[in-house]
Amino acid sequence: MPLSKLRKHFAQFWPHEVVIAIFLLAILMVITFRDKGCNQSPREQKVILPRYFTSDYPVKFSKENLIAGAIKTYDPIIFNVKRNGGPQAMMERIDQYDLAINAAANKHGVDALTLKGIIYLESGGDIYALSGSSCAGIAQFSPSTARGYGLKVAGNWYRFYLRFKKSGADKDAITLSRIDERFDPIKAIGAQAAYIASLQQKYGEVDFAVAGYHMGGSNLSNVIREYRAGWQSPEKITWEDIVFDASPSKHPKTHRLLFHELEDYSWSYYFRVRSAMKARSLWKMDKAVFAQKVEQLNNPIRRTQLVTETIWYPEEKMPQYTMAQVERWAQSGLFAKIEPSDFLNIQLNKVSAPYLSQNAAGVLYHLAGQMRQVTGHGITVNSALRTYEKQIQLVRQGLSPSVYSSHLWGEGIDIDPYNSDKLNDQLSWFLDQLKWRGDIVWYREGNHFHITVAPNEKFVTLASRAILNLHVKQAEESRFASK
Ligand SMILES: [Zn+2]
Repeated sequence: MPLSKLRKHFAQFWPHEVVIAIFLLAILMVITFRDKGCNQSPREQKVILPRYFTSDYPVKFSKENLIAGAIKTYDPIIFNVKRNGGPQAMMERIDQYDLAINAAANKHGVDALTLKGIIYLESGGDIYALSGSSCAGIAQFSPSTARGYGLKVAGNWYRFYLRFKKSGADKDAITLSRIDERFDPIKAIGAQAAYIASLQQKYGEVDFAVAGYHMGGSNLSNVIREYRAGWQSPEKITWEDIVFDASPSKHPKTHRLLFHELEDYSWSYYFRVRSAMKARSLWKMDKAVFAQKVEQLNNPIRRTQLVTETIWYPEEKMPQYTMAQVERWAQSGLFAKIEPSDFLNIQLNKVSAPYLSQNAAGVLYHLAGQMRQVTGHGITVNSALRTYEKQIQLVRQGLSPSVYSSHLWGEGIDIDPYNSDKLNDQLSWFLDQLKWRGDIVWYREGNHFHITVAPNEKFVTLASRAILNLHVKQAEESRFASK
């Protein structure tokens, strides 16, 4: 076989990464075993433990990791704002009010960066900002909240006025802010600081104040009351505690209120503000790095690529395995063979090849363990790895939309739904937690839960941006539809 043909052969069946990995492994083995002579006893098979499957199972997420993960999920949105001239223009606008915000924060004893994070999200520093729900100005006060904090509020006529005057509104600022003080940035910022301070005083902590800024005090009180009335709430709680703890089994009422009844993804507002605060700090520290980050998160993603899997696993780069390869690699530890397990309550149902990547197996074990612990029910897997032939067969039968699938390389898992809405809701909750961490994407596909496990950390930001774009779009569409 000529060398070029051989290389082509290798490139086709052995991706570069694998060749490099085998090469590095060989070097490592030479280093490890060179001094030990040749009469070694057979080596014990090394068991590679997946990320979540450790000896102190079930694995608990650390709260810090979840918080950081939840905040990070929103970075792509924060750095990829299209309105108000984009992130830099928004930050520059807020710069103009830096001193005013710092002074107001000082006066009311609240955190200035928090106020700036909120302003970034609410108006991007645009003092004429108007939203559909009659909120106005740099701090986006509703008429009633504004009046409650001593601001003069006009009737709604100016909305039409502003719409016609959009471009040349600057010279009318003084007139407008006299009629409606929500358009007076200095007064609005003062009222914003006072509002946050009063929420903070009432609820004890700034995280509740931020959550309350978006959902309103009465909604916030309801959420806290339901959570407190639920199962085992500790003496001191934070907003993150409620969000991360409000599982449908443990806190059904809080769960329903937070995730099904409150609109606009209100529960996530606090994390979005934290992400905006992070962005604000970066802007103040290094504008060039800020610009880089904007650039990085603005890379155009083709519409067809708005599906995370294609970003995590670009079609042209993914190998096609034969069953023989999979079995060989399973023996060497690259794939995990999934077995039905009484301990974790894992059942296999019509699974054609019971293999997953080590990482995907870890996610599966983790989920099954959590489900079993909380509900007593495990998980029934109905598809793990598939061969290319199997996938083509599924496409021909109309059971799969594409020959390109994360099941082809063991990063896709399909789980049977339960007969109970409550159990399905509980599983969705656990899946959401993994999603917040950027470890998976998941969706209901036909009559099962499909999960694709993330390849590694560096693709997570791009992928979560794609997911969030879809979510925002869905939210916008539903808001539009409800009008
Ligand atoms: Zn699937």
